Amino acid sequence: MAFELPPLPYDYAALAPTIDEATMKLHHDKHHQAYTDKLNEAVAADPALEDKSISAILSDIAAQPKKVRDNGGGYWNHQFFWETMAPGGGAPSGDLATAIDGKFGSLEAMKIKFNEAGVGQFGSGWVWLIVDGSGELAITSTPNQDNPLMGDAATQGTPILGNDVWEHAYYLTYNNRRPDYLKAWWDVVNWDKAAARYEAAKA
Ligand code: MN
Repeated sequence: MAFELPPLPYDYAALAPTIDEATMKLHHDKHHQAYTDKLNEAVAADPALEDKSISAILSDIAAQPKKVRDNGGGYWNHQFFWETMAPGGGAPSGDLATAIDGKFGSLEAMKIKFNEAGVGQFGSGWVWLIVDGSGELAITSTPNQDNPLMGDAATQGTPILGNDVWEHAYYLTYNNRRPDYLKAWWDVVNWDKAAARYEAAKA
């Protein structure tokens, strides 16, 4: 069964001015669509992948050709990314807020570490807040369309937040200023979603 491009959970302009409408249109309708189409091409070429979930494909990614890694990662990462954001932003609450304070000292300190990891990711990639194998919050970054769910990721875990630091995610508004994009992005983080992911990861 073919993978389908999930619709954006809000309007293209809903995250403006943090993320402009043209970027959202290109990013969802062109980039995410292309990852979806190429993943389907790769799956169609290998009968062993036909009935596998995206999670199963990612956990066994070391056994797959690069086309499956790049496009399977791109497919999963972008659906996660759209749901990581929402208009209006907010602040973490509940167990997630407590865990952030406990691990990093404060929300602001966590944001600084996350942004540093995003700036420090050379070239294209992603920066993540995850629950790692010991149940602790951790910050990590991955190259290209890799993610912490991949069975061969250097730091594995369950993503709670993820930001896309490919230039296509920010160039129209921020040009080469990735640090400015990373700072501004917190205004559109969906903390309710993050809290729900945290509860699920800890359960
Ligand atoms: Mn992207």
